[in-house]
Amino acid sequence: MLKKYADIIIDISHEEVDKVFQYRIPDKLTDLISVGSPVKIPFGRGNHVRLGYVIEITDKTNYDEDKLKEIVDIDKDGVAISSKLIKLAAWIKENYGSTMINALRTVMPVKKSIKPVTLKDVVLNIDKETAKNHLLEYKRKNAKAKLRLVSELIDTDKLPKNVVTDKLNISPQTLNALVDEGVISIESKAVYRSVTNNSIDNAVDITLNNEQLSIINEFARDIDNGIKKTYLLHGITGSGKTEIYIRAIKKVVCEGKQAIVLIPEIALTYQTVKYFTRYFGDRVTVINSKLSDGEKYDQMLRAKNGEVDVVIGPRSALFTPFERLGLIIIDEEHETSYKSDYPPKYHAREVACKRAELDGASVILGSATPSLESYRRAVLGEYTLWKLDKRAKNNSLATCSIVDMRNELRSGNRSIISKELACDINDRLNKHEQIMLFINKRGFNSCISCRSCGEVIKCPHCDVSLTKHNNRKLICHYCGYQINEPDKCPSCSSRFIGGYGTGTQKVEEEIKNMFPGARTLRMDKDTTSKKNSHENILSSFGNGEADILIGTQMIVKGHDFPRVSLVGIILADLTLFENDYRAGERTFDLLTQAAGRAGRGDISGKVVIQTYQPDNYAIKAAANQNYEEFYSCESSYRMIMHYPPMGNMLVVLMVSKDETLLDETANRLALQINDKYTSDKKLAVIGPAVPVLSRIKDIYRRVIYLKSAYYNKLIEVKDYIELLDINDMTNDEVNLQFDFNPMNMY
Ligand code: ADP
Ligand code: ZN
Ligand code: ZN
Repeated sequence: MLKKYADIIIDISHEEVDKVFQYRIPDKLTDLISVGSPVKIPFGRGNHVRLGYVIEITDKTNYDEDKLKEIVDIDKDGVAISSKLIKLAAWIKENYGSTMINALRTVMPVKKSIKPVTLKDVVLNIDKETAKNHLLEYKRKNAKAKLRLVSELIDTDKLPKNVVTDKLNISPQTLNALVDEGVISIESKAVYRSVTNNSIDNAVDITLNNEQLSIINEFARDIDNGIKKTYLLHGITGSGKTEIYIRAIKKVVCEGKQAIVLIPEIALTYQTVKYFTRYFGDRVTVINSKLSDGEKYDQMLRAKNGEVDVVIGPRSALFTPFERLGLIIIDEEHETSYKSDYPPKYHAREVACKRAELDGASVILGSATPSLESYRRAVLGEYTLWKLDKRAKNNSLATCSIVDMRNELRSGNRSIISKELACDINDRLNKHEQIMLFINKRGFNSCISCRSCGEVIKCPHCDVSLTKHNNRKLICHYCGYQINEPDKCPSCSSRFIGGYGTGTQKVEEEIKNMFPGARTLRMDKDTTSKKNSHENILSSFGNGEADILIGTQMIVKGHDFPRVSLVGIILADLTLFENDYRAGERTFDLLTQAAGRAGRGDISGKVVIQTYQPDNYAIKAAANQNYEEFYSCESSYRMIMHYPPMGNMLVVLMVSKDETLLDETANRLALQINDKYTSDKKLAVIGPAVPVLSRIKDIYRRVIYLKSAYYNKLIEVKDYIELLDINDMTNDEVNLQFDFNPMNMY
């Protein structure tokens, strides 16, 4: 094929230019250009030079040859995208709704090339005999600096320039003089910015237990037979999932392939990375949001050049430009952070499966509390289910006790610490064992519940709790139903009704009052705003500098403290009250993770779960540490309500500074969708509605919910909405975003 024409996506975020433009490829560029090349092109009436990406190269055109403009040049500062990642971007655009350029930007963790860091060495430029003669001369002339440097170089041949200037204290003038005399020369070499500490600790050689062995053998057999699948590793906390990841990676690396490991940023600690560097040394690298652009760029370059085999990182690491990708691992696959918050609002798990399909790779999803989405697929046989249900170190799981906080109130205990928990804390303090107290502050004060009977005020139509707004109104964010905030419980008439107002700080105060001698540490947004403060708190707790660690969900994930024998959950209900169909799942996850922190060492553990809803299925299942029990209740609830994954949902979010225009547009759009799909039984249209966050930074928000059993139906509606082009009518004043199967309700 002759490379004559290029289809190009212009690097401008605007729906108007969200199409492919064709350009002629000038002769001088035919050898340099390929699919994915960043290019400079003349664009628009004024032929301003813009940037763009080549997504297709052909030898035919449907346009008049003479009218086609010509590519100016390759953009030397740009980064090329591989053709597979372009395909992935197209899939993201289609499945989540976004412009092609935004989809392309999504699959490029780094968009600009960045100059390499160079290191300079000072080397001896003459043979050692001659150099020794020079030394005599320097001595005679009392040239101390030259003497110092050249004698040093006679011993070592080469020295890093910074050592020469700093340690040997040689001035630039002396260096220049020696260069001019031809005695030394200065060499530069490009080096990668290093982000891992590769001090190789001895890898502890762990003998796999039978459960682990049979899993890894199955994986190895599949790889040997060329079978590429998605596996769901459902392993309780401490069951040794990481060891499975390591062995699986080893297997694909042996086959000459590469692996991506996704870990939620919050769990991406020094310890986790070290675990991997022990096995893979400098063949593993990390990306995270704290890296500079240059550091990120270098890691991507190393991956692209095949100089590393494993990349560990959060969501965006999924787009590492490996050319021989063999395995994608997603640890804690249920985590909400795997879904992008901004458009295209893609889910890393789904995109990982697509990328694996394009690259011919396998996928391993791991969790102690799999998402309903993944577990359902495993049940249906789409994923292979692996189970690890024993702790790897053979210590038993903690025992769980549910404390009914309504009884505490009845028996006159107004404290947020129940008698049972207080008694256990006292006991552990006496034994010099450690305690973690967990309080989930999300959903803080937004829901109304009764402290006497536990009743939560819910919408009569939607089975979600109503949300309190500042004007004392309680509103349903699914259907718009609203009532005034009652001053008595509608169910038992108690006056102890209101929003929850307990935070980490309050818990710490209370603990200090009750146990004046206890040393406490607090970990929440306020105490971890500084760099490294997160790790510092955890390591001082790990070193035994405190007896009690009090924190939000931050303390729950993945930390291994062998001396913790008691975990207290101050209020298990808080997440349940979120006006969100995933509230049960989140509560179950948090309680399970929290429970997993107790009894990691030799001492056995206990978990105390305080709640106003002891009969709630998610709390009960978590206390029993029974995922299957939870799954069965939760999936029938979702089934009845047609919530994902038993149904599909598309949230169309509209935002604008102009509230009136926004309402008009939202109403018109809902009307148009309704008109088009009135007779379509496969689609339900709800709204427009005002979301919980009805205004952020003076931008107003409205939503339309679309529900269907069929994901494809929702894609069809999304395509229809894109064609309607609401911006035509509103002069760009209203912005529109799509969110398929949202992780958080609006
Ligand atoms: P998970 O990720 O499933 O919560 P980890 O992978 O962190 O669990 O493993 C928990 C601990 O058990 C780690 O310290 C790990 O080194 C250890 N471990 C894993 N497998 C084994 C094994 N087969 N024998 C002994 N210890 C093991
Ligand atoms: Zn009540
Ligand atoms: Zn409702």
